Order: sequence, then structure tokens, then C-alpha cells
Amino acid sequence: MKKVIYPGMFDPVTYGHIDIVKRARELFDEVVITVAKNPAKTCLFSIEERIEMIKESITGLDRVYVDAYNGLVVDHAKAIGAVGIIRGLRAISDFDYEFQMALMNRKLAENITTIFLMPHEKYTYLNSTIVRNLAEFGGDVKCFVPEFVAKKLKEKFPDEHKK
Ligand code: ADP
Repeated sequence: MKKVIYPGMFDPVTYGHIDIVKRARELFDEVVITVAKNPAKTCLFSIEERIEMIKESITGLDRVYVDAYNGLVVDHAKAIGAVGIIRGLRAISDFDYEFQMALMNRKLAENITTIFLMPHEKYTYLNSTIVRNLAEFGGDVKCFVPEFVAKKLKEKFPDEHKK
């Protein structure tokens, strides 16, 4: 049984993330979406909210689970018996950072392999920051996030805050 983790902030989860999860699910028996607690980074959504949104977004996808972690990703991967770390690669701009992280993680735990997956082209320009900014200024986010997430964004940025 091969299990992988897919770590990230998921603030909030987008269709780009879900695309990667679906691809990973084709390759591995179990995919655990691991949400970073990382208190150093300020997120729009709390850890509980981010987990709730992911759970809603993966309804009907069996063999996909959600958890949270604090600390080193490789330690968490080892603790839950994962063989690898899934990361999404959108564009060359992702590469430097991801390459560094992957090599550092391999140094820390050589049995944990980082696997890069590319989303559908239509998601290559999509990230959580763009979605948050769009929502803040009243833009339509429904092409980018599941309905439940769009609703949550609307609650964070009620109409009177539209600029
Ligand atoms: P992080 O801050 O760790 O990058 P994110 O939630 O932004 O956390 O992303 C988690 C992972 O998902 C990263 O590997 C990132 O490259 C990937 N990812 C984010 N958005 C997309 C997207 N639109 N398509 C494919 N992969 C994505």
C-alpha cells in the first residue's frame, strides 16, 4: 500500500489543488492532504476552516484524506508511513523553490521521494493568493474554487467591503 502526502497552506483550496490530488490518486493508493499549521504565516482562513473546505471539496473521492501538521514535512510523512511528498508544478517560477525544498527534504529523509505533478493548463496561473485578492474585491471566483469555498470567501469579504 503506497501512501503519499500532499502538503501546503491551502488558504483556500482551489481547483488547481484538487486537480493535483486527482492525479496523485491515480498513481498511489492513498493521498493525505496535509495542511500546514505554520503559525509564522498569517492565513485568511484558520486551520479548521481550511480543513473543512478541503473535506467538502474531496467529497466522493475515496482514498483521499486530510490532516494537519506542524514542523517538518518529512517528519510528518514518516510518522504516517508515507513514501513520498506530492507537489504541484505550475510554471518555471515554481521550480527554484520547489527544487531547493525537494533536495533539502531528500537530505533529511532519503527514503521520502518528492513527486512533482503538473495540473491541467487551465490551472497553471491559479493560486490561492489570486483567489483571495479576487474575492476581496468582489470578483467572481466560481471558476477557480468549489462552491463551498466560494461561499466561505464571500463570508470573509461581505459585499460592503467591496471596493
Ligand atoms: P505552499 O505555500 O506550500 O506552496 P499552497 O497551498 O500554495 O502551499 O500549495 C501547495 C501545493 O500545491 C504546492 O506544491 C503548489 O505548487 C501546489 N499548487 C498550488 N496551486 C496550484 C495549481 N493551481 N495547480 C497546481 N498545483 C498547485
